[in-house]
Amino acid sequence: MYDASVLREALDLVVADLHRTVSHPPPGLRFVATTKPHHAYLARDDPDRLFSDSGGVNAAADRPVVELRVAHEVCDALASGRFGEPESWPVCPIHRTAVRARIEDDVVMWVCRGRGNLHYLGRLGALPAP
Ligand SMILES: [Zn+2]
Repeated sequence: MYDASVLREALDLVVADLHRTVSHPPPGLRFVATTKPHHAYLARDDPDRLFSDSGGVNAAADRPVVELRVAHEVCDALASGRFGEPESWPVCPIHRTAVRARIEDDVVMWVCRGRGNLHYLGRLGALPAP
């Protein structure tokens, strides 16, 4: 069994960013353990309605990797419309393009590649309000 607190803490960071940057964040996001060892999938309220399109999260990975995967799972789930209206999130307030999370020196950062210029919007859990 993996340490579920790492998964929960990673999701808390993403949800904090979501609440700071969108007016109606989807409530009830959580990870549900599967029969696959160390593996969890994102769900919203109903644990039987899992988002599995992006492969889920290996919760036994190193913390930055778990945080990155959790961020990608939430972004992909929102974009897919699995938990409500399809939504591209987060969006760069300058370029209006989709932003992705990536690991920089063991820290997960939100990165925009708008107009070919890579710039950082903030650390995971500290994405500024638009
Ligand atoms: Zn940008």
